[in-house]
Amino acid sequence: MALLDTDLSLARNSYYAATSPREPAFAPLQGDARCDVAIVGGGLSGLAAALDLRQRGFDVALLEAREIGSGASGRNGGQAIHGLACDQELIEFQLGATDARLVWDMSIEALDLLRERIKEHAIACEWRDGWLGVARTPGKARELLRSGERAEKRYGYRMQGLAAGELGHWIASPEFHGGLYDPRSGHLHPLKYTRGLARAAAAAGARLHEGSEVLVLEQGTQPILRTARGSLRASQVLLAGNVYLGALAPQLAPRIMPVGTYIACSEVLPEALADSLIPSRSAVCDNNFVLDYFRTTDDNRMLYGGRVSYSTRTPGRLAESMRQRMVLTFPQLEGRHIEYAWGGFVDITMNRAPDFGRLGEQRNIYYLQGYSGHGLALSGLAGRLVAEAMAGDASRFDVFAQLGHRNFPGGTRLRTPALVLGMAWYRLRDMLA
Ligand SMILES: Cc1cc2nc3c(=O)[nH]c(=O)nc-3n(C[C@H](O)[C@H](O)[C@H](O)COP(=O)(O)OP(=O)(O)OC[C@H]3O[C@@H](n4cnc5c(N)ncnc54)[C@H](O)[C@@H]3O)c2cc1C
Repeated sequence: MALLDTDLSLARNSYYAATSPREPAFAPLQGDARCDVAIVGGGLSGLAAALDLRQRGFDVALLEAREIGSGASGRNGGQAIHGLACDQELIEFQLGATDARLVWDMSIEALDLLRERIKEHAIACEWRDGWLGVARTPGKARELLRSGERAEKRYGYRMQGLAAGELGHWIASPEFHGGLYDPRSGHLHPLKYTRGLARAAAAAGARLHEGSEVLVLEQGTQPILRTARGSLRASQVLLAGNVYLGALAPQLAPRIMPVGTYIACSEVLPEALADSLIPSRSAVCDNNFVLDYFRTTDDNRMLYGGRVSYSTRTPGRLAESMRQRMVLTFPQLEGRHIEYAWGGFVDITMNRAPDFGRLGEQRNIYYLQGYSGHGLALSGLAGRLVAEAMAGDASRFDVFAQLGHRNFPGGTRLRTPALVLGMAWYRLRDMLA
């Protein structure tokens, strides 16, 4: 897991780590054990599957290399948004109208499921309703409004389109030319939510082990996962390791690319100032291909995300460069300090569609990856789809598993230059729109 060292120190600098009390650790796996389902990865995908599988009566054990939530799940922007990372047109093109409708509906179900789990398991994670999409050019505003009209026409999903003149009530920024408001999407404190989901899974009887990196996966009718201190034999396996799986599943690695994205969090602002920046307190993101995403927190800070990097190194002067982006959007924040800056890796696929499927001759090794930066809500539903499939009804899982994916061209060594070229093209397209 070569990504881990710099990655973990980045996560520890996060506002989320500073504001979530550390809970008692889950003990590492020791010795040889058995279970019905073994899960690799203690992020939202793995935990959601663990909880759902336990609720269906499976004996479940989950192995997490580091700490629960130490991957993307505990450090993301906290924005739970309808749809997928890719355009819905791509899904329609690949799957046809009927299955594309199922995918859209499942993306909305994912939002409802997130709210249900928060309520059912009493997870204190600062959930707030509301998401606002905004556009930085008139062309991008037309694109955004068209996407809202399309969602309503094709899927009956209603959002409120906002013309440039109406935006002042929604966001105190000179930067934007149009908006789209969705009351059903929203935002939360992702590390508090992820740890809450882990507590719920453990309370339901799932065996969770931290500090248990899976080093070897032996496929077969009863696959075996080996760690430094033990082994776990199971009838079925779920790989939910995001960009960190690497050599454990060499077939999967070329289909995703780890792309760094970064977040800065300001000092506490006066409440009236925080209220004035985004009066609805919604989560906000722009519709550029390389997007900025931001929101105010419960304790009145500006949490501002954006930038990308294609190497696994943390960009220099991270806090200052993020501060400059924040001030470009909100000039009122000039002079305000950044107290936390961190980042993580999103698992981008070539077409930005999620990549779910099965491996092995027995087809008893499931995987979930490729959320492409849009996995906060969807990972929760994906865990449920895996549980349904393992329990015998794969119909909904297979709707996603049909999506076609290609390896990044040039293999592992050339993946980065190919992606940089692709991103440069999209950036240019954003500037010209
Ligand atoms: C900075 C950032 C901002 C983001 N913002 C948003 C957002 O606002 N909205 C949104 O929808 N999405 C966002 N995302 C994406 C979202 O966070 C992810 O899609 C989602 O959390 C994926 O969850 P996961 O469980 O699949 O992966 P992860 O949370 O990364 O969990 C994978 C886990 O597997 C473990 N693991 C890997 N290999 C092994 C092994 N061999 N043995 C044991 N354990 C292993 C890792 O240690 C890790 O904890 C963001 C991501 C980042 C990084």
